[in-house]
Amino acid sequence: MVKGICLICKKEKRGVPIKDDIIIKSIRKIKRGLHIEKGNQIVICNECAGEYLERRKSYEKSLTTSTIITIVLFVSFLFLSILAGNLTIISLIKTIGLTIFVGILLIGINLLRYVPATVRPIEETMKTKKPKSKTTARLRKKTKRKSKR
Ligand SMILES: [Zn+2]
Repeated sequence: MVKGICLICKKEKRGVPIKDDIIIKSIRKIKRGLHIEKGNQIVICNECAGEYLERRKSYEKSLTTSTIITIVLFVSFLFLSILAGNLTIISLIKTIGLTIFVGILLIGINLLRYVPATVRPIEETMKTKKPKSKTTARLRKKTKRKSKR
């Protein structure tokens, strides 16, 4: 568990950190360029784990669908050129170009609803919910009092 800002509820919480992947790194770079980088660690808190998993699953699903659409398009373009009997280097380049274009478009759409992965499966933390110890209970009270102010 790491302290940071929860991706879902945007509150300062302890949770499982998200993976620093290429997309997160790029977003950080852009933010740094715009001077709006806060340097916060993004986490998924326990309370939001369920919501996060749902979002992540739906994101993964749409990513898979996009990949399949791109591959199917590429294969059918290729197949069509073969059927038409004009499979040349130029038509192949055109096909690849068109596929890349469609692929980028689909990736762009997916990025709009990007849900990053966590450093370790969040299901693990959900299953191993330990009975609250006295210290965490005390800490919780403290943070509650703080947030009321
Ligand atoms: Zn949360």
